Amino acid sequence: IIECRDVHKSFGDLEVLKGISMDLMKGDVVCIIGPSGSGKSTFIRCINALTPMDSGSIKVEGQEVNDPRLDKLALRRKAGMVFQQYNLFPHKTALENVMMAPIKVLKEDKAEVEERARALIAKVRLEGKEESYPGELSGGQQQRVAIARSLAMRPDVMLFDEVTAALDPETVKEVLVTIRQLAEEGMTCILVTHEMGFARELADHIYFTDRGVIVEHGPPATFFTDAKDPRTREFLSQIL
Ligand code: ATP
Ligand code: MG
Repeated sequence: IIECRDVHKSFGDLEVLKGISMDLMKGDVVCIIGPSGSGKSTFIRCINALTPMDSGSIKVEGQEVNDPRLDKLALRRKAGMVFQQYNLFPHKTALENVMMAPIKVLKEDKAEVEERARALIAKVRLEGKEESYPGELSGGQQQRVAIARSLAMRPDVMLFDEVTAALDPETVKEVLVTIRQLAEEGMTCILVTHEMGFARELADHIYFTDRGVIVEHGPPATFFTDAKDPRTREFLSQIL
């Protein structure tokens, strides 16, 4: 469903991605780990064309992202993204936040969207919070609204960029439960995360990036115990 080949990206003189390749099949859950500044966010932003790549190829469901004629809106509908900063509209309720894009972008029927939005809010376990404003919700609850908002566009892939990094430890878990449920339902997911326990439990494949390259990758069963590269070993020893 996603095919990345030799993706390069520089910001000025700084080469941030030096040839990243990665494949995902439908239903795969992939975790990307690595030190700060190694290009993790830049890479997943390339996947839904928030950041234009310089060279290489990324195909999402066979469609080339690096094609100037690409319909970016259609791509972002297919590949939903959730960020560390949830960026909800503060003057809209949880329900309105979830309903907005399908009505404005997809021009879907309001009653239908509302039904779907209510179901999604229940799915992320926020029943009863439909009418709450973001300011009345905890960080973890806001992040779950943000996930529901992405799901409202019926994506085929979800990209999560350190979605729990800004949360209190108590609320991290409720967000991870939501993501786990999505993964178990077969959603294709790419997660940039520092939650190693979660990565180990949930991921089909782990990628370790450092300074713009994939240093090492493998299934969690071997990745965490048999890392070969000294950089991977050092990183793991710092965080495990
Ligand atoms: P973190 O774990 O801290 O989130 P990361 O692996 O996600 O790090 P990126 O955000 O992809 O790293 O950034 C990689 C490098 O690219 C950094 O050195 C960063 O300063 C630089 N960078 C990212 N975005 C831009 C931009 N829009 N303009 C210039 N430099 C950028
Ligand atoms: Mg980042």
